[in-house]
Amino acid sequence: MLVGHLCRPRPRRQAPLVRAVRALWTLPTNLLGHLAGWMASGGRLPRRVGGPAAVGWLYPIRSGLGLDWVGAVTLGHAILHRPGVVDGPTTAARLTLAHELAHTRQHDLLGPLYLPLHLLAQGLSALLTRGRPTTVSRVHDLNPLEQTFIVVPSSVLYAPRPTDAEVTDVLADFGV
Ligand SMILES: [Zn+2]
Repeated sequence: MLVGHLCRPRPRRQAPLVRAVRALWTLPTNLLGHLAGWMASGGRLPRRVGGPAAVGWLYPIRSGLGLDWVGAVTLGHAILHRPGVVDGPTTAARLTLAHELAHTRQHDLLGPLYLPLHLLAQGLSALLTRGRPTTVSRVHDLNPLEQTFIVVPSSVLYAPRPTDAEVTDVLADFGV
């Protein structure tokens, strides 16, 4: 497995020009993500989450859609999740939400490239882990967008365990 490390994210930039460019750059994937979230949640309005480092919108996936295998997936700034996976009080749930919010930071940077690059990285990881034991999953373990090119790696719940102080700081950065 690629081993990522928990890092403190910089606050999201808020200058008016940056916000305007970011809104345009992220618009295509956001439209897709909010449409998917709206459909998966049965037309519910999303709940806004986040802090200085990121903002996202939570859509609980309703049961009966055949999507029970999905834990949480971030499409642009829309975070689709199985109830309890990212909205519980446990440190594991809060770190999972911080991980999904860290994906929204990738999306700020990658814009329309976010989905194609994720699909590519997932495919490569699945290919390279074929027949090998995995820690998180085949599409996560050797995926740089899940482990190293992200401030809260999906391996954070496995190894190396960050200290409680590091976890507390990063959870505050993400407002979770
Ligand atoms: Zn992830």
